[in-house]
Amino acid sequence: GLTNDYPFEKDWDLPVPSDLKRHYDVVIIGGGGHGVATAYYLAKYHGVTNIAVLEKGYLGGGNTARNTAVIRSNYLTPEGVRFYSESVKLFRELSNEFDFNIMYSSRGQLTLAHTDATIRSFRQRAEVNKHFGGRTELIDPQQIRELVPTLNMNPADLPVLAGLWHIDGATARHDAVAWGYAKGATKRGVELHQLTEVTGINTENGKVVSVDTNRGSVGCGCVVQAVAGHSSVVAAMAGFRMPLTSYPLQAMVTTPVKPFLDPLVSSSALHCYVQQTGRGEIVFGGGSDPYPLYNTRSTLELKESLIASAIEMFPFMANFKLLRQWAGTTDMTTDYSPVMGLSPVDNYYLDAGWGTWGFKATPICGKTMAELVASGGKVPELIAPFSMDRFDAFRQVNEMGATAASH
Ligand code: FAD
Repeated sequence: GLTNDYPFEKDWDLPVPSDLKRHYDVVIIGGGGHGVATAYYLAKYHGVTNIAVLEKGYLGGGNTARNTAVIRSNYLTPEGVRFYSESVKLFRELSNEFDFNIMYSSRGQLTLAHTDATIRSFRQRAEVNKHFGGRTELIDPQQIRELVPTLNMNPADLPVLAGLWHIDGATARHDAVAWGYAKGATKRGVELHQLTEVTGINTENGKVVSVDTNRGSVGCGCVVQAVAGHSSVVAAMAGFRMPLTSYPLQAMVTTPVKPFLDPLVSSSALHCYVQQTGRGEIVFGGGSDPYPLYNTRSTLELKESLIASAIEMFPFMANFKLLRQWAGTTDMTTDYSPVMGLSPVDNYYLDAGWGTWGFKATPICGKTMAELVASGGKVPELIAPFSMDRFDAFRQVNEMGATAASH
């Protein structure tokens, strides 16, 4: 049977690696979901197992632990919809693939339109989705009332005119995703080194040859960088700049209440999204903080503005008790799409620019990054549009309208 218990002590004898070896075929910097997923697909589908995942903290303790677990594929561009749709498909099968329950919960996502301009853009998104693999449609206020009877249809005097209903919207237990991938990777011989921080990256003739860590140096055939909010910092060690700015992103959760909200509900006009977890807690999220920072503190400002918006949408939430507030550091691109693929350093591969929306991409990132590494640098078609040089060539993949507060 499937369980969702923490796998380390119970059904999984985690091989705890001792010393770092002198050389690995692949060094993955960052033991978040993306890093361990890449290791998993390399080991399981490409037979590459001489891999070290180097994590400065603990497995999945970065943004993988901090996100609000929204999974969806209702993006705006053909490139985006194709990519995220593949990820949703992989997510649906993950519990079976791992034989470990990631608590995938398919409940649909509703985004509210309060203006005619938003309705026009929703119509476009619904059409693009239909063509490229997402299941999304425009719905009217009556259908919205039926889906979410408790929603205030005139929040902050912004009447709800229509909604974008994405039936593929879902959530999953974020920690379990990292644990499942780590379990599958280490079982096949991958070494996960926690409390191991990369402090330097060494190149020879334009090619990466080794990395320095707080536990010594290791040689490597290639490197995958998957460090989310610290992408610019680590890339600087390798000697190049990335088109990213790091901002804090905060979220909050209440104490549990009786189930009343099945779909995920978001309003970009109110900069707020609301969802109820399987345990009954209400999770709130919104936009990034308005200034770059590498600090993961919470602010009263955000708490006040987010709660005000949530109460506009669901007035009875004024009686709920807030349990916790937290933040992560997110690496934002200007077009709200990721940076994946090759870098200016040979054999140094990038999985970055995941900003506020990268949890949902964890499986497809792992799969495509593994293909990239295993092929010795042949960029898979699905991620070719996200290359870093798109910013020099004016080939941005603009997802701003489809990302905003919905993540
Ligand atoms: P991480 O999980 O952050 O892993 C990177 C790891 O790299 C970290 O563990 C870090 O310790 C390590 N690291 C950094 N520097 C070094 C170094 N020098 N040496 C060794 N290790 C290092 N996305 C969604 O799809 N849906 C959502 O609903 C959503 N909500 C979010 C809400 C919040 C509040 C936040 C903060 C983010 C949210 N996101 C969401 C974004 C999502 O969390 C990230 O895009 C995703 O988790 C990135 O995964 P990752 O594995 O790349 O990064």
